[in-house]
Amino acid sequence: MAPGVDGLPAAERDVPVSAPVAEFLASLSPRVLRRIRLGLLAFEWLPFPWRFSRLAPAAREDFLRRMEGSRLGPMHELLLMAKVFSTLGYAVAPEVEARVGTETTCRLADGSRPDPAMPLGDTAPPSAEEECDVVIVGSGAGGAVTAAILAEAGLDVIVLEAGGAHNRESYPADPLEAIATLYRDGGLTIAEGRPAIPVPVGRAVGGTTVVNSGTCFRAPDPVLAEWRERFGVGWATDLNAEFSDAEERLHVTPVDPERMGRNGQLTMAGAAALGASGGPISRNAGSCVQCSSCPFGCPIDAKRGMHVTYLPRAIAAGARLRTNVQAHRILTERGRATSVTGDSGADGPNMSPYGRKSSRRPSRQPYTARARVGVVVAGGALGTPELLLRSGLGGGQVGRNLHIHPACWVGARYSEEVRGWDGVMQSYYVDEWEPQRLLLEATFTPLAFGGGWLPGTGHEHQRSMLDFDHIGSIGVHLSDESSGRVSLRNGALRTTYKLTQADADRLTYGIARAAEIHFAAGATEVYPNIPRVGKLKKNDLAAFESTRFKPSELRLEAFHPMGTARIAPDNQGVCAPDGSVHGTEALHITDASLFPTSVGVNPMMTIIAFATRIATELAKSAG
Ligand SMILES: Cc1cc2nc3c(=O)[nH]c(=O)nc-3n(C[C@H](O)[C@H](O)[C@H](O)COP(=O)(O)OP(=O)(O)OC[C@H]3O[C@@H](n4cnc5c(N)ncnc54)[C@H](O)[C@@H]3O)c2cc1C
Ligand code: SF4
Repeated sequence: MAPGVDGLPAAERDVPVSAPVAEFLASLSPRVLRRIRLGLLAFEWLPFPWRFSRLAPAAREDFLRRMEGSRLGPMHELLLMAKVFSTLGYAVAPEVEARVGTETTCRLADGSRPDPAMPLGDTAPPSAEEECDVVIVGSGAGGAVTAAILAEAGLDVIVLEAGGAHNRESYPADPLEAIATLYRDGGLTIAEGRPAIPVPVGRAVGGTTVVNSGTCFRAPDPVLAEWRERFGVGWATDLNAEFSDAEERLHVTPVDPERMGRNGQLTMAGAAALGASGGPISRNAGSCVQCSSCPFGCPIDAKRGMHVTYLPRAIAAGARLRTNVQAHRILTERGRATSVTGDSGADGPNMSPYGRKSSRRPSRQPYTARARVGVVVAGGALGTPELLLRSGLGGGQVGRNLHIHPACWVGARYSEEVRGWDGVMQSYYVDEWEPQRLLLEATFTPLAFGGGWLPGTGHEHQRSMLDFDHIGSIGVHLSDESSGRVSLRNGALRTTYKLTQADADRLTYGIARAAEIHFAAGATEVYPNIPRVGKLKKNDLAAFESTRFKPSELRLEAFHPMGTARIAPDNQGVCAPDGSVHGTEALHITDASLFPTSVGVNPMMTIIAFATRIATELAKSAG
């Protein structure tokens, strides 16, 4: 896949690729691994009766080129998978980073280093059974906030977290190891459908806030008004105090345009030239500069994720955090949630216990946390319905109404140097097309992630990599009406999603707007991430806009799952407006699962505001 051109090392001959990828894959659960193996096998035998790996290098490159030019969707999906995995292994080699010039050093604008976070206490369960007032499952945006508020109200709280505790002293330096350590299933949670859409989620103390980009938005007023009117969330339009409190605690500040980096500045200039509204993004990372390492854990903990903010606060107020504890079931007595059972023990980076033979996890011990007052579930929009389904609680709507903000990466080549990694990863937003349900954000992803999406194969793909310093990129996010479902298949999590034609049309419109911004800022060509289009020149835009693309033709990713235990009246949802689960007493939810519809902006702050409101009311009623 990477033959080595113009000083770039050749894969395997000069730098190992398959070995680090194999090591990364070994950390995944066998269930995920089986699916990857099937895909790779299909790729290997595509040139039947020959095998891809046995072809001569020139024949391999020729075959890859034909795959790229094919009009068959599955060909592109297989090619993309092969490019993503090979780039993941290749782009992290120091020799490659040195040649492309992508070394990054995160720091604060004033050169200082943030104070270390307060300690999290002893996180190993001291015994197989513990008792408290409230058990909280999950320590991400929803769980951490709930823990802090309940503990400070004097309740005895235990937080159960499936992942481990990490901070700047312990995030793995190697990006592949970081992904295996900090994400559920190595970031390979995928919503099945056409197209299949990767939906990575965090699995660590602090949840997805450990690996997110730090972008902070309040939910748009019209969305909150709809939630009040259609779904009965009476307080949804009354969250100013909760938002302000969180913004203060997380030091949310807008990115300084002077220091946002060229990628954001180009988006800003392009949007201004078109008269499109937008602004510097507000973030919970103070005035950090120079990076694009956010998805691997912030190396200086400038990003104020839950593990360095609300959780230490909860611990200081007496909460107990239990890490590497996977909750399997919520138990009830006479319709009331009374305990959470699961197992505990570190058994390698982030392996999900489901879909594995029990003989492969001898190190795990049974664990139960009993709750005198109640149970709160905040496992995220995938983990929460999974736990409710395993427990047989919440009714027939559990797992339905999954929204994800499908997103498309629209790259562009500039004749000037962009060096997107020398700047804040997500820096400038454009909300001009909010009425079309679109939000555009200047987003630059590290080469290990972004490299797989660069155009070309073989030599051409390598030249695209060498050109990475001239690439700018904008993420197009859709507030989706399409929906999906989280369910269990053979006991393991299954996520499906069906992108409607109407939403595919909106995304295509958004891609065209991102292209327009790029061209207005001086880009020479744009990569819309649609295989049959390849590259766009400025004059191609009108033809692009008059073409209708099927949902399956779009290459998408999604970072914001929500809605799978939504607040809605009885038979349309899972929770009441106070976060309580229909049909079960003393059971509440405080995470992204609650959202009645797609929120339309990056969701962390709205999750925090919701958790703050629900936990505050819960503390009052328990007190
Ligand atoms: C790469 C990336 C970038 C993002 N960037 C942004 C951004 O810039 N701004 C923004 O607003 N949003 C961003 N997001 C999304 C945002 O971080 C999430 O929406 C938010 O963290 C979700 O909060 P949550 O409480 O619902 O779940 P999470 O934060 O995901 O926390 C859930 C936790 O529960 C644990 N858990 C689940 N099930 C169990 C179980 N059975 N037992 C024990 N523990 C369990 C999980 O391990 C996890 O740690 C990003 C997401 C990704 C993946
Ligand atoms: S928040 Fe992200 S960009 Fe800022 S210093 Fe941390 S990792 Fe780097």
